[in-house]
Amino acid sequence: MRTIHASLQEAEDTIGKVDARVILCDVLGVDRAFLVANPFHLLTETQDARVDMMVTQRQMGHPVAYLVGRREFYGRDFAVDANVLIPRPDTETLVEAALARLPNDECRVLDLGTGSGAIAVTLACERAQAKVVAVDASAGALGVARANAERHGAGRIEFLEGSWYSPVAGQRFDAIVANPPYVAAGDAHLGEGDLRFEPASALTDGSADGLGSIRAIIDGARDHLVDNGWLLIEHGYDQASAVASLLEAAGFNERESVKDLAAIPRVAIG
Ligand code: GLN
Repeated sequence: MRTIHASLQEAEDTIGKVDARVILCDVLGVDRAFLVANPFHLLTETQDARVDMMVTQRQMGHPVAYLVGRREFYGRDFAVDANVLIPRPDTETLVEAALARLPNDECRVLDLGTGSGAIAVTLACERAQAKVVAVDASAGALGVARANAERHGAGRIEFLEGSWYSPVAGQRFDAIVANPPYVAAGDAHLGEGDLRFEPASALTDGSADGLGSIRAIIDGARDHLVDNGWLLIEHGYDQASAVASLLEAAGFNERESVKDLAAIPRVAIG
């Protein structure tokens, strides 16, 4: 049997410090401080075998978030599995921009392509008066999103299955938010890292410029926003000017672009 110290050292050599710690914490059901404070704590045989299995899977490329079944987003823990895109810190930029614009009193918010529900649940938690509707075309994703809503006391979110605006025909919102698929078809990025294991439909819609879904969302916004409502869309690192042109063509008279933590333009606001 191995100690925490030995187990960590071995795992670190193959998958690096950060992932090794995440896996050990998950298997032992402890936090990082426990690992540091108890280097000579012995793992049980079952825990030992489980760590080995997860380290092997990580070595094979499986995202650590799928292995442990969760990822932190905007200070909350979200359940994730292979039905949903793993929430990225970049998307916290979109959440911040939306929160800066949402009123504190009653308002209606639509999240298109909710996936794990990270955006919808965060907005519902941060704005208790907001009525949030979350749409996804994937029943599997909606199952994960519903579980996340329950877990964070955001059970009032209305989840609807369907493509973009189809489940909310005739409804209008104060804000529409979306992190749609935007990776261009054939982008080499799709064959790298975590993206190889994430749902393809969350990453790319098959359009050559990656803008197919963003176009559909901007086109439909006119019929689904109230006057002076906000549209906030996450986009790819090289799509800011294309998305700004689409917003202008659709008649959004006020437009803004927000950069992510890496200083890359990431969110278009109209
Ligand atoms: N930001 C993701 C990536 O390139 C893509 C997410 C998306 O298409 N919405 O890793």
